[in-house]
Amino acid sequence: MDFGIAGKSALVCAASKGLGKGCALNLAREGVRLTITARGKEALEATAAEIRKETGVSVTAVSCDITTPEGRKAALAACPEPDILVNNAGGPPPGDFREWDREVWLKALDANMLTPIELIKATVDGMIRRRFGRIVNITSSAVKAPIDILGLSNGARSGLTGFIAGIARKTVRHNVTINNLLPGAIETDRLRANFAAVAKAKGISIEEARAERMAEIPAGRFGTIEDFGAACAFLCSRQASYITGQNWLVDGGMYPGTF
Ligand code: NAD
Repeated sequence: MDFGIAGKSALVCAASKGLGKGCALNLAREGVRLTITARGKEALEATAAEIRKETGVSVTAVSCDITTPEGRKAALAACPEPDILVNNAGGPPPGDFREWDREVWLKALDANMLTPIELIKATVDGMIRRRFGRIVNITSSAVKAPIDILGLSNGARSGLTGFIAGIARKTVRHNVTINNLLPGAIETDRLRANFAAVAKAKGISIEEARAERMAEIPAGRFGTIEDFGAACAFLCSRQASYITGQNWLVDGGMYPGTF
């Protein structure tokens, strides 16, 4: 299936590895020109080179912290008018809510709620003018079923989800869709770090924590960044113009609800 987005431009945040990289790679395979960001220059440049080599598309790498105003300014200077925006940043740390003060909460809100809102604000009107836009926010299955040690994520991402539900209905008549992609357990460094945190909290080994998590997944395996990136590319396709304001789980059937 031709997704009809060859030649479009995309800003993919936090994309040197993990889910952001999966999204960037799958968009590049559709011929989308990329601007990718991450904090570490070396890993980011290596990912940019890998994507260029495989797909031949142009990839601009901007090393910056996307959760800061300066970082967003640098990313938008490199890609002021993206047709596609993939919002992503590192997730907040696990822990007990009694340990989190206002500063910790503000950091989580900045990264996982306010940064995507700022980037949407900066880019959505151009998309509306050009009558094409696809915005995908990487959130978490935690917005549908909270994860107890990730209270910062449960809270900050639910705030973003509520905001998106409101605006996604306003942009779609201009062929600008806004959706959220909810990873369940996709095998990345972040997931591996969570096994370590769970193991510590429960007093079990990391291997046991991994096996316990795997046992909860009907698909019988963790997801890959390819599984996740393919869903992102479809949401960014021309064909997906009638899908907006949705929260798509990519979780191998882990969420048990009927809806
Ligand atoms: P990861 O650690 O594998 O990759 C994170 C990427 O983000 C890296 O490229 C890193 O350099 C970049 N990054 C982090 N903070 C940044 C910042 N401030 N500015 C720019 N770049 C930054 O993580 P991942 O598994 O790909 O997770 C991505 C997001 O999805 C996180 O918010 C995570 O909490 C969330 N999530 C992941 C899963 C999963 O199963 N992997 C599940 C639920 C939610």
